[in-house]
Amino acid sequence: MKMHGVTAVILTIAIATAAAQWAKICSSQPANKIRGCDSQGCGGYNDPRGRRKHRGVDVVCEDGSVVYAPFTGKIDKQARPYGNGNAIDNGVQLSGSGTRAERRFCIKMFYIKPVKYSGPIKKGEKIGVLLPMQEVYRGITSHVHIQNCDLTDPAPNL
Ligand code: ZN
Repeated sequence: MKMHGVTAVILTIAIATAAAQWAKICSSQPANKIRGCDSQGCGGYNDPRGRRKHRGVDVVCEDGSVVYAPFTGKIDKQARPYGNGNAIDNGVQLSGSGTRAERRFCIKMFYIKPVKYSGPIKKGEKIGVLLPMQEVYRGITSHVHIQNCDLTDPAPNL
């Protein structure tokens, strides 16, 4: 029984380590936290967006907070969520170039003012600042939107 307990603890740690591969994303939170539901909607993968679905996750972050690169890689290009030029219409596409596991990552991060639109970036390095989301969606839980380039669920990496 005792051995089983120890094995279970080791397995749990191994699974948790494998699951959480990305660094903390927002300076105003102690750890990555997915937005729940508020007056403007819910922040999980596949949550409804009108007649469509939310193909990403919303990571809680206060307006003006520093946003960090979740993995080592390069900024590919600017990626704008709306293309309408509103106060939060900015972001980047980031792809991995670090460890073997990191090389398969490709994500879009929305609602940030990026430090640059191309070039290398290290895991945990400042990648931008959260734009004033409360000005556009009053009362929303402000957040960074993260979606995989292939639109699969990014939550297991958080
Ligand atoms: Zn979102």
